[in-house]
Amino acid sequence: MTPDIKTDLRTGASLTVRELPPTLAPLRELSWNYWWSWAPDGAEVFRDLDPNLWQQCEQNPRLLLTQISDLRLAQIATDPSFADRVQQLYRRFTEYMSDQKPWPKLPLAAQISKQNPVAYFCAEFGVHNSLPLYSGGLGILAGDHLKSASDLNLPLMAIGLFYRFGYFRQRLSRDDWQEEEYRENHTDELALHSVDDEQGKPLLIQVVMRGRAVSARVWRADVGRVQLYLLDTNVAENSEVDRLVTGHLYGGDRETRLVQEMMLGLGGVRLLEALGVDPFVFHLNEGHSAFLTLELARQLIEKDGVTFNEAMNRVRERCVFTTHTPVAAGHDAFDASLVEKGFGDWPQRALGLSREEFFKLGRVSGEQAETFGLTPLALRTCRSTNGVSRKHGEVSRALWQKMWPDKQTSEVPITSVTNGVHPATWVAPLLRRVYEQCIGEDWIERARDAGAWSYGVEKISNSKLWESHSLLKQQLVAFVRDHSFDARLARGESEEHIEAARTMFNPDILTIGFARRVAGYKRWDLLLSDRERLSKLINDRSRPVQFVFSGKAHPQDEGAKAVLQELIDWQRDPSIRQRVAFIEDYDQEIARQLVQGVDVWMNVPRRPQEASGTSGEKIAINGGLNFSVLDGWWLEGYDGDNGFAIGDLSEVSDTEMDQEDSESMYRVLAEEVVPRFYDRDEQGMPSRWIAMMKRSIETLVPRFSSDRMVAEYVERIY
Ligand SMILES: *Cc1c(COP(=O)(O)O)cnc(C)c1O
Repeated sequence: MTPDIKTDLRTGASLTVRELPPTLAPLRELSWNYWWSWAPDGAEVFRDLDPNLWQQCEQNPRLLLTQISDLRLAQIATDPSFADRVQQLYRRFTEYMSDQKPWPKLPLAAQISKQNPVAYFCAEFGVHNSLPLYSGGLGILAGDHLKSASDLNLPLMAIGLFYRFGYFRQRLSRDDWQEEEYRENHTDELALHSVDDEQGKPLLIQVVMRGRAVSARVWRADVGRVQLYLLDTNVAENSEVDRLVTGHLYGGDRETRLVQEMMLGLGGVRLLEALGVDPFVFHLNEGHSAFLTLELARQLIEKDGVTFNEAMNRVRERCVFTTHTPVAAGHDAFDASLVEKGFGDWPQRALGLSREEFFKLGRVSGEQAETFGLTPLALRTCRSTNGVSRKHGEVSRALWQKMWPDKQTSEVPITSVTNGVHPATWVAPLLRRVYEQCIGEDWIERARDAGAWSYGVEKISNSKLWESHSLLKQQLVAFVRDHSFDARLARGESEEHIEAARTMFNPDILTIGFARRVAGYKRWDLLLSDRERLSKLINDRSRPVQFVFSGKAHPQDEGAKAVLQELIDWQRDPSIRQRVAFIEDYDQEIARQLVQGVDVWMNVPRRPQEASGTSGEKIAINGGLNFSVLDGWWLEGYDGDNGFAIGDLSEVSDTEMDQEDSESMYRVLAEEVVPRFYDRDEQGMPSRWIAMMKRSIETLVPRFSSDRMVAEYVERIY
């Protein structure tokens, strides 16, 4: 994984598509649909074409097929067992794509159909690592939503933005300070189809913003049976500034954010109109797309000559909103002057609203001094609002009660649908095989069937489960060594420190993963709050512990960068460095490696700020155990026997909570987690630990799968 090679490969030069030998020909079509990324043997087939190149291309099959050498291609094309794998993958793909029936027990709202699908709007989509249009949890969740919609055969179309430079890549400087690097996404290297008009020219969607008409062309990514449409303002018709409207994900200033959100909301609705699609329901995944409700109202006003209020009453019936943020400051809001700059006189001209009426839509109480918030706008213009865990629903009702001053908090009309993860995306292939054997070949179709899991998991033998987990852990150890070696080399660390990476980590040691955004409420510093105690745990003679970390700080968050700096500096300490690793540039691929290989996943958010969290859900399907604060999804998932809880539910000040949780974390680790892991029976197996792994799989996988989540949206929300 030398960064230089990656950069060299991504030349941006027009890539010539080469002829593939007949035995490999289906790979071309497969590379055009992200279905391969969650199909059994999908990623493995592409990887085995050329494992080194696969890494250098960052798991991008399209790039791989253009870069692979003629010799390698000829070798693999003449390997009959490889040809069989390609054939089988292709057969599965055609079967999957031609399957028209929804899976059993998904009582589709009759009106949702191909002509009237769900239109799912989000500012970021984490479909796969090779399509880097996401920053973190929200995007990964949106990607998993699309995959489950595809698997469940739910007619759904997704709308987002194509960011030319995506989200930043993390590099650490010599003094351990995070630096941000942006790489250009080249559309010709990605599995993106240009959406063209009748003349075969790129379809252009226009939105007037900042007094200028801005055009966006449209790309389509196929995610199984679901289409993801992406608006891209990097076209010759636009000025330099406007070409950068969709330049960076969350990287620009407030004004850029506003115009991005105008493009997503207004442009997205116009795109659906241009495609002739009339959605049954619009799902606003987070408030970024809330302007879409205004554009829908405009269409009705223009078409039917109704008033704004009449139009909005009809729009509301078709829009549902999911909020993701439990703290007031996390909600997107703009100064009135900025909104005016962006929209000009559009609200008056197109919606027939006075300036005041327009601004009131985005204000909580209508006070002049208030900013224009996208959450208040969405709350007003959607018939349904939900948080992303039960607790987050409760927190959101309290947070937004001010919008319903005559209602009690408990009566505020905000419900919740707890987030889930896509099992096929996150499961390690080795465990997939175990589930196939114990639950059935169709286990993935029964992902949300709790009965199937409790019946199937009982049948898994302890030794089989432990052996599979141990192999995955060995793979993680190799991954950590490899990554650390390359990163240390690239940063010019001392030779001795670089060499030490070759022998760091040990597959027999209890391994704890901690990877997420470096944001204040995630409390990265909690672990380091008592270093002496921590060092003792790490270096215990008979029962040691090792940690693997990964995560990015927001580019403007100096405090978070300082926390990272401290951690990375500490990690160099000779007394612990063989047992502590920080993996640079957290992304979906690194997340996958970590969740598939660790014994324990730790999460210590400050309650109640973890809206849901999803990374711990990815752990469960891989047999890892959660060791977390009772917040978000874990508050619902924890049953006393399926993992470990940090702290309690007491309502105390932040300072007290930090102290209590830090104390609890060290205590539970030393007194419960470590002893249980190292407690071996006559066969040398940690049978009490394995029992907990099984209980975790059985109780958590069906409940926290995105199939359950999407089904719940269909049944309760859409
Ligand atoms: C799953 C995932 C997240 C979300 O994790 P949280 O538990 O919400 O912190 C963020 N980033 C990546 C790359 C992920 O895979």
